[in-house]
Amino acid sequence: MIDNNTIMQRDLEVIWHPCTQMKDHESLPLVPIKSAKGIYLYDFEGNSYIDAISSWWVNLFGHANERINARVKMQLDTLEHVLLAGFTHEPAVALAHKLVNLTPETLKKVFYVDNGSSAVEAALKMSYHCHRNLGRKKTLFLSLTNSYHGETLGALSVGDVSLYKETYEPLLIENMQVPVPKDQSIEAAKEALVVLEEVLKQKGETIAAFIVEPLIQGAGSMHMYHPLYLKGARDLTKQYHVHLIADEIMTGFGRTGKMFACEHAAISPDFMTLSKGLTGGYLPLSVVMTTNEVYSAFYCDYSEYKAFLHSHSYTGNPLACSAALESLAIFETENVLEENEKKSRYIAKKLQMFKALENVVCVRWQGMVAAVELGGYDAKERIGLEIYRYGLKNGVLLRPLGNVIYFMPPYIITYDEIDTMMQVAYEGIERVIKN
Ligand code: PMP
Repeated sequence: MIDNNTIMQRDLEVIWHPCTQMKDHESLPLVPIKSAKGIYLYDFEGNSYIDAISSWWVNLFGHANERINARVKMQLDTLEHVLLAGFTHEPAVALAHKLVNLTPETLKKVFYVDNGSSAVEAALKMSYHCHRNLGRKKTLFLSLTNSYHGETLGALSVGDVSLYKETYEPLLIENMQVPVPKDQSIEAAKEALVVLEEVLKQKGETIAAFIVEPLIQGAGSMHMYHPLYLKGARDLTKQYHVHLIADEIMTGFGRTGKMFACEHAAISPDFMTLSKGLTGGYLPLSVVMTTNEVYSAFYCDYSEYKAFLHSHSYTGNPLACSAALESLAIFETENVLEENEKKSRYIAKKLQMFKALENVVCVRWQGMVAAVELGGYDAKERIGLEIYRYGLKNGVLLRPLGNVIYFMPPYIITYDEIDTMMQVAYEGIERVIKN
């Protein structure tokens, strides 16, 4: 029988894992997963783990979801893949129409990519290129402090999490940050808008786009801000002819309580990037959605050399598109957002208990994302790692971001499972105090 250790040893001989100091695995065992069902992951020795972070924020309706499984299996016997240049296929067409109908009204065109960072790269290039095609020289990108948009060089350039960015600084493209609102209050949003306006006034002529993670900065420790900031940012970017890119890679598909975070502010950006939950967490796929106005800036005779010549081999993969179509069909046939709202309120209520712990600085939530921030620790102490270990030992996959413990479970989580997930986190945090 294969056990966890055998898989781990064979893995460590050949695999270099993402976002990992591999030496950690001298003392921190890898968790080999044999199978998964619903919100549970199962290892080779029969242990189960609640996937409290939706496998890096992608899973919406559980692992091995019957409906999505069936749809992907059907697609597999029809067409597994075909290039999307000069060719097309039904799942890509159907999905693009659905996305155009679902997203804010000015987004009318869908450019397929295959992962989140690549969608951000494509959006940045498209924005710059659109201005260029229209005769405007705009080469600077603006983003928020504490932002995260992926780890390819362009995406890293507009990010601001130094852990990922600092080393590569000499390789990055021209970028600038304005302060993110410091909390979820209206006052913080207003304060940050004053700075944004000043920067746009001074540099708007050279700025191609302002990219934001609407409402929640995921990798920036689940920092959250008020929708008023988005509304103000939309108005100001319009005024200064700067594109607004809403990076909804993490927030899209119901995570914040509405289908897209932009809806909380009733805004329509010039670009929207989507991935992660797009396929219900099944397969790599992403899109850049944009307006007819942007699309038209590229539409002319080939000889004018204005086309967007950007491509990835697996762009618009039919299996991924079919998973996405079924995931969206689940939204249509089940009261997902209504049910999520009830669960979100339940989570928010339970979150209050964490305030009693002496090392908790604050708690925050938005839709199906909740976070507990701990204070008084040095990053070197790696207390998040301690809580991660405690979680695994007790059947819950928590993956703290530094000193922030967060919950981002698949939407199908039950109330009892929410209790277990939060109780284990509570005990893990309590234990850190005792040690
Ligand atoms: N943008 C945001 C807001 C993200 O949260 C992420 C991933 N965490 C990305 C971009 C990058 O996506 P990917 O990991 O698929 O490259």
